[in-house]
Amino acid sequence: MESKKISKNPPVIALLGNPNSGKTTLFNNLTGSHQYVGNWPGVTVEKKEGECRFEGQKASIVDLPGVYSLTAYSPDEVVARNFILDGDPDIVVNIVDGSSLERHLYLTLQLLEMGAPVVMALNMMDVVASLKHEIDIKELERQLGIKVVPMAASKNEGTLDIKRIICAVGKQGAACPTLKINYGRDVEAEISNLVPVIEKSGLNKKYTSRWIAVKLLEQDNEIIARFEEIEGGDGPVIRALEQSTARLNNIYGDEAETVIADARYGFIAGLIKDIYKRPAYEPVSTTDKIDRILVHRWAGFPIFFLLLFLLFQFVFKASEPLMAGIEFFFDWLGGLAAGISPTWLGSLIGDGIIGGLGAVLEFIPPIFLMFIAIAILEDTGYMARAAFIMDRAMHKLGLHGRSFIPMMLGFGCSIPAIMACRTIDNPNDRLTTILISPFMSCGARLPIYVLFAGAFFPKHQGIVLFSLYIIGIIVAVIIAFIFRKTLFRGESAHFVMELPPYRLPTVRSIFIHTWERGKHFLSRAATVILAAVVVIWLLGSLPWGVEYASQESVLGIVGSWLAPFFGPLGIGHWAIVVSLIAGFVAKEVVVATLGAIFLSGNGALGAVLASELGWGPLNAYAFMIFCLLYIPCIATIAVIKGETGTWKWAAFSAVYTIGVAWIIAALIYQIGSLFL
Ligand code: GDP
Ligand code: MG
Repeated sequence: MESKKISKNPPVIALLGNPNSGKTTLFNNLTGSHQYVGNWPGVTVEKKEGECRFEGQKASIVDLPGVYSLTAYSPDEVVARNFILDGDPDIVVNIVDGSSLERHLYLTLQLLEMGAPVVMALNMMDVVASLKHEIDIKELERQLGIKVVPMAASKNEGTLDIKRIICAVGKQGAACPTLKINYGRDVEAEISNLVPVIEKSGLNKKYTSRWIAVKLLEQDNEIIARFEEIEGGDGPVIRALEQSTARLNNIYGDEAETVIADARYGFIAGLIKDIYKRPAYEPVSTTDKIDRILVHRWAGFPIFFLLLFLLFQFVFKASEPLMAGIEFFFDWLGGLAAGISPTWLGSLIGDGIIGGLGAVLEFIPPIFLMFIAIAILEDTGYMARAAFIMDRAMHKLGLHGRSFIPMMLGFGCSIPAIMACRTIDNPNDRLTTILISPFMSCGARLPIYVLFAGAFFPKHQGIVLFSLYIIGIIVAVIIAFIFRKTLFRGESAHFVMELPPYRLPTVRSIFIHTWERGKHFLSRAATVILAAVVVIWLLGSLPWGVEYASQESVLGIVGSWLAPFFGPLGIGHWAIVVSLIAGFVAKEVVVATLGAIFLSGNGALGAVLASELGWGPLNAYAFMIFCLLYIPCIATIAVIKGETGTWKWAAFSAVYTIGVAWIIAALIYQIGSLFL
């Protein structure tokens, strides 16, 4: 076994594994940080770095995106592979789910063929043990020629062993395995033809020539492009490849790449036979039993809806008393502000800041409860099922792809949802999903619903909330369908969705999830929302001398001017119009604006709105629908620009969502008016 001398100080350790293998959990164990851990395939899309210390030594740890293989099909695979090729890590810790070795070893093999300095972290050994299965670690090490460390990352077991190995390798350099898979006579012959040509080209300095030859025979675009760059479109390597490909196609038709993949799976099957022991009789796993019901062809949908409905009921009921407490506190604070002189300052603090900010902060309980509920659904693995159920329904409409995983993240916030679209390799599917993700109702919109449902639908809050989320999903699906038939025509990529096993969520993980999502809400309250509230107060007080937030103020004038545009939606009240404009900054600002306009230290905003707006439930519903669907907030638009690379799509998403919102809210109001 060759040994690779350590090149950096501190050494660089890359974590690589399939999605949902426990990479982030291990990363957190090693570095003591609090990265997002999700029971989702495809949550880590960017690489993250941290530092690991052990017995006085340091190492820098890089958490790469989860990938199933190292072909160069999707953006996250390219990130991962390029880091291993060009970032030159000193060790690659390949984290593998011991309870589904067949699938995970595919990536391991590719790493070994590359000649990367691999150490295997064999994770989920607690699951393997609970199934009463056994893995022969010694034999696995022997056959692969690498170190294997059994562990259970979520229980922090095995972390020390990994640290010890990282430490030892930090001193001596890692062993570079040279695994050879036999690809059969024909492919091997072509490998032998290609290797000498590659060696002459000079690209093999870092990678083994054999690996490059195999990649070329797999028609890997990245590697081919590298050769085209150094030796042009018909240099010796490209020409040799063309000849080899022609010969292989002669034998196998266009299945040559499949022959290569099959050889790997064959190797894995043989390996597993040698090292994996199962009891003779195996009961159906609990996960399978639960899934027979939860992802059942017919029952799956109603169960999904029932769960969502119960969740919203719970969010409402449990947050009521907490909200009352916060409201009481701001009432008291507002009372204090009323005594402040000069009067303008009292008004800024009482009307503006306390009225506006208080109106938003009151919704901390439902927002956090909602995030806790979402975190529980995610961590148990149910959300992935929900995505699976939705995906199946979308498939019936000719839509496909892994769109629903990013979309479900959108229940928290559109930004991570849009970033997660990086895991979608088909560009058409990716763009479609980016554009429809904002229709999934994010946490920032919740205060609006809770406020208006509480004021106008006191008996049916849960149902109203439920209907809004569902309408968001339905609109997203319909618009996706329209886009795929018009703007982005073409084949959808095939994707087999992987369902993680059900797991009991840990308190720590629920806490991290809830906090990760909730903290943005709090920090926005202290920054963007506070600033917005002050601006609203100022515009409500100008020109100096008018009654605060009256129709004669700048706010009143602008709002009244634009109000007719919203007339057909039944929401043409000037203050509502102002709140919608302000809501572009962030959706909670809609509520903050209404608070700043209508509240001055006394009472519940809901009650004030019910009496001031002169609305019935239908108007309120049309308003909530408009808020659900209209323009994504500034931050989301910026991310759309970042992810698509052009302002064109950012601007498009701003404009078309307003159109969709207007049409649907108008339809609901107009049709509803016929009956009510
Ligand atoms: P990543 O996608 O590879 O980053 O995986 P995560 O670190 O986000 O973990 C995915 C899920 O697996 C989470 O729900 C973890 O709590 C869980 N998990 C991680 N390691 C283990 C383990 O050793 N045993 C069990 N039972 N669950 C684990
Ligand atoms: Mg992760």
